[in-house]
Amino acid sequence: MKKITLTIMAALALVFTVAAAQCAATTKKGKQCSRQAEPGSAYCWQHKK
Ligand SMILES: [Zn+2]
Repeated sequence: MKKITLTIMAALALVFTVAAAQCAATTKKGKQCSRQAEPGSAYCWQHKK
C-alpha cells in the first residue's frame, strides 16, 4: 500500500514539473508561450533576458 502511494506521488510530481516547464511569457496575442522553459528558468530561450 505504501509503495502505491509513493508511486502516485512521484507521478504527480512529474506532471507538475512538466506543466511548470512551459515558458511563463505571453505572446503579443495574449496567449501563453508554448515553448518549453529552460531548466532553472521560467522562460524559454527566446523570452529569457
Ligand atoms: Zn517563451
